[in-house]
Amino acid sequence: MQTPAAFEPRGRRPPAAGSRRLRFWSVRHARGLERLYAAFEAVLVRLAPLAARIGHARLERPAAAVEGAVKSALFDCRMCGQCVLSSTGMSCPMNCPKGLRNGPCGGVRADGRCEVYPAMPCVWVQAWEGSRTMTGGDGILQVQPPVDHRLKGTSSWLRVMREKAPAERTG
Ligand code: SF4
Repeated sequence: MQTPAAFEPRGRRPPAAGSRRLRFWSVRHARGLERLYAAFEAVLVRLAPLAARIGHARLERPAAAVEGAVKSALFDCRMCGQCVLSSTGMSCPMNCPKGLRNGPCGGVRADGRCEVYPAMPCVWVQAWEGSRTMTGGDGILQVQPPVDHRLKGTSSWLRVMREKAPAERTG
């Protein structure tokens, strides 16, 4: 069974059920991935001046392609362009068939599965479990802004470079 989510990039087919196993692995290893991402983010910030010199517009397509491939495999990423995995226990909220960004709906089943797709564990039950293993897991308590659909398909990594690098680094 496939599980279409409300949020699908243009032309992208929803992942087959079997491919979700890696997504669940990522939640189970949220703490390790949190550490890995912290190191990766530091590298991104260091590379910010180079990226600024090349030009973010020029880098957007290749960066989004690489990011999409990596995160699609690990998280069933839908490339929303405003990644919140660090605040959601490494469970991508865009896999919720209702596209909820701030916790589960009221229909989660007693066994923790999705109201819409009973075969699928609720993305937000997973998010809570993953977050409990993370150092910064309490980020799940922060209210996320609404999804900005204009960012769909763009690279969150490049955004991190732009937003987290000190001004003098990005020129
Ligand atoms: S929150 Fe957005 S960028 Fe992050 S994994 Fe999910 S769809 Fe991809």
